[in-house]
Amino acid sequence: MRSCEVLIVGGGPAGAAAAWRLRRAGVDVLVLDREAFPRLKLCAGWITPEVVRELEMDVRAYPHRLLTYPRLRFHFGRLNLPVPCVQHSIRRLEFDAWLLQRSGAPVELHNVRHISADAQGYAVDGAYRARYLIGAGGTRCPVYRELFRELNPRASELQLVTLEHEIEYDWQEKDCHLWFFTHGLPGYSWYVPKERGWLNVGVGGIAARMKNSGLDIRGHWNQLARTLHGSFAPGAQFDPTGYSYYLRGNVRVVRRDNAFVTGDAAGLATPDLGEGIGPAIRSGLRAADAILKGAEYRLDDVTGKSLTSIVRSMFDRPARALALAGQRGHASA
Ligand SMILES: Cc1cc2nc3c(=O)[nH]c(=O)nc-3n(C[C@H](O)[C@H](O)[C@H](O)COP(=O)(O)OP(=O)(O)OC[C@H]3O[C@@H](n4cnc5c(N)ncnc54)[C@H](O)[C@@H]3O)c2cc1C
Repeated sequence: MRSCEVLIVGGGPAGAAAAWRLRRAGVDVLVLDREAFPRLKLCAGWITPEVVRELEMDVRAYPHRLLTYPRLRFHFGRLNLPVPCVQHSIRRLEFDAWLLQRSGAPVELHNVRHISADAQGYAVDGAYRARYLIGAGGTRCPVYRELFRELNPRASELQLVTLEHEIEYDWQEKDCHLWFFTHGLPGYSWYVPKERGWLNVGVGGIAARMKNSGLDIRGHWNQLARTLHGSFAPGAQFDPTGYSYYLRGNVRVVRRDNAFVTGDAAGLATPDLGEGIGPAIRSGLRAADAILKGAEYRLDDVTGKSLTSIVRSMFDRPARALALAGQRGHASA
């Protein structure tokens, strides 16, 4: 039986952020993930300036693809609205592996199935034992399933369904585009270029409201593919994959004794744009602080509105100056 002080289930942004903060304080941490990193994570890979700040990232020194956009383009029907701001894109395959490695925590490949609690702490699959347990396993997190689901059931009306594909593609259109409510989509679709010839495109919407639009997610994908092939990505070969996760609802119980739930496991993505990386990182850092400082573990303010963050970045002068100077990637004014 392998013992440690803090066992983190899942090495995505939530788990890696918690591990990073705990390792910096010298805590004996172990991360378990069922996949070996770098691993594929379906995600558009858009990150905000808040994420950059909270992770203390120097974007110029980041060793992988990172593209800074000096604006986003919002489409509402025929209206194309350029919004000057500062936002970034990364590839999750690279970003997550980098974050986890940077944490300095040991990582073991293990698919967690059974968790039991006793007076000493937590036992996992008869192979691991820890005083503290952090559930960072995403939508299907076993810590959520075994310890939190009954107390914190997810609301089906907050479930997002998505279809997306990230491909190597020599894009020419350098802005990030978001299309809202096309053909009644209860969500939006996206075109997110990545540095040095990668592109992520996808569509996402509230599952329960999809049927009212008269199209299923595949139908909405087909509409997006037509737009992409017409002008944004001619000749691109797409083969999208589906994934689902939850927008932030009324998350009540996030800690039970010394067990914590973070990120998508808790269902923390922003209600307007489904942005989950920031809330995952914030919740992972807070779980670490709760362990290190005995701080209260509260998540009521880790999910803001993505649109507020975009508006805020419009007025972040130093960051805008950097973005306009095209410090990273190919994006320029
Ligand atoms: C199509 C799509 C596009 C998105 N686009 C964006 C975006 O552009 N920007 C944004 O901010 N958010 C976006 N999101 C949301 C974002 O991807 C998630 O909110 C974020 O990844 C949550 O991080 P996490 O660490 O909680 O979970 P995850 O990133 O899902 O990491 C969980 C980890 O746990 C591991 N794990 C799971 N089960 C087990 C187990 N039983 N045992 C061991 N390990 C396990 C997994 O292998 C995984 O590595 C998008 C989501 C989707 C589906």
